[in-house]
Amino acid sequence: MSPWNREFWRLALLLAVTGGMAALAGEPAWGLCAGLAVYLSWHLWQLRRLELWLAGRGKRLNDGRQDIWAEVAAQVLRIKRRSQKRKRRLSLILKQFLRSTAALPDGTVVLSADSRIVWFNQSAQRLLGLRAPQDNGQWVANLIRTPAFIRYLDSGNYDEAVEIISSHMPECTLSLQIIPYGEDQRLLVIRDVTRERRLDRVRKDFVANASHELRTPLTVLSGYVETLLGEAEEELASWSAPLAAMREQTARMEQLLSDLLLLSHLDESPRVMLLRPVDLAALLRRCCAEASRLAAGQVTLQVKIAEPLVLRGVESELRSVFDNLLSNAIKYTVPGGAVHLETAMVGEELEVVVADTGIGIAPEHLPRLTERFYRVDSGRAREQGGTGLGLAIVKHALQRHEAQLMIESRLGIGSRFICRFPRDRVLEAPGLSDCGGSIPV
Ligand code: ADP
Repeated sequence: MSPWNREFWRLALLLAVTGGMAALAGEPAWGLCAGLAVYLSWHLWQLRRLELWLAGRGKRLNDGRQDIWAEVAAQVLRIKRRSQKRKRRLSLILKQFLRSTAALPDGTVVLSADSRIVWFNQSAQRLLGLRAPQDNGQWVANLIRTPAFIRYLDSGNYDEAVEIISSHMPECTLSLQIIPYGEDQRLLVIRDVTRERRLDRVRKDFVANASHELRTPLTVLSGYVETLLGEAEEELASWSAPLAAMREQTARMEQLLSDLLLLSHLDESPRVMLLRPVDLAALLRRCCAEASRLAAGQVTLQVKIAEPLVLRGVESELRSVFDNLLSNAIKYTVPGGAVHLETAMVGEELEVVVADTGIGIAPEHLPRLTERFYRVDSGRAREQGGTGLGLAIVKHALQRHEAQLMIESRLGIGSRFICRFPRDRVLEAPGLSDCGGSIPV
């Protein structure tokens, strides 16, 4: 019989007994009331026992009985056991998670919405000098006080990592990145990048030093070649062709070294520190004059420069950008073709476009074009006197001006190289509402 049926029969029996007895005395209603009161008191008593048991202060209810309360207690017990099991499983997962994050070489700090430390692993202790448990609940900016990190934390833009020198271990360079997750929670991931930065430094120093050291012997060699070429006209006539080839090759090597030196200088820092107003219109006109000499009447140069045009930047670097783009456009355009240079404000940004009707570039080459020494057709590029570093220089110099380089090209039709400068770099331009503020010099 189900507990509910049993309960019904129990009540019926109780009421029949109390009602029957009271009927004998001529008051059946009082008997029924007394029966109901007894029944209610018994249930209240069971409820109290259940409450005491749930609070952990009493005995279990279903000690061998078969009433409705024993059934309820059995259900509660089942739920309790299930939740204990789940709790044990969760705590095991948590332990495993803590053990695995403790073993991670990268530091991990969980931050609350108001940037307080909620939890951190052992690597974070080692890299940042955090102390457990004292530093839990501390504001992270009180413990990592490097201004670059504080700016990063306040900026709210965590797309990239920020690098700092560890105040706890000054010989270490750390890369810190915040990763937002869940509801307003953030994970701070700390990587030790000391070794990578040291290797970078060694590579950059090697390229810069090797280029510098090669320059002097090369200058001596090209000096001798020039002198010999002068004499070749009279006494060394049979040597004039090889000497001319030597002059061409030494000139190429000089160009290569100066490009390598320029690139290693651009590599020094991702952003230009010393900014001055640059008259971009005048600079572009000078670049175009140089380019039209290079075109030697074979390629038409069409120029449309909006004036006035003043940018914040480094003149020599901007000059390299447009010299390289214009010389490439001329080099890779067959005689009879045209090269266009145009400036325009597009929305809030300044665009300088160098376009040509040249040989064009197949789409698969476009993503790799700005890599050092990457050439689509190395034979042709070398023939044209290219070093393979031109576009790498363009990309780095533009990056240092927070500008973007975009390349559009169609094979056999031509190419467009678009340099896009952000609004806060532009000091003067036609149609510019408010000019860019103070100039740090
Ligand atoms: P290079 O000194 O060889 O010209 P760059 O870095 O300046 O080196 O250019 C890399 C490669 O990109 C070139 O070798 C060439 O194949 C391609 N390229 C650059 N500019 C153009 C252009 N305007 N038209 C077609 N191809 C180009």
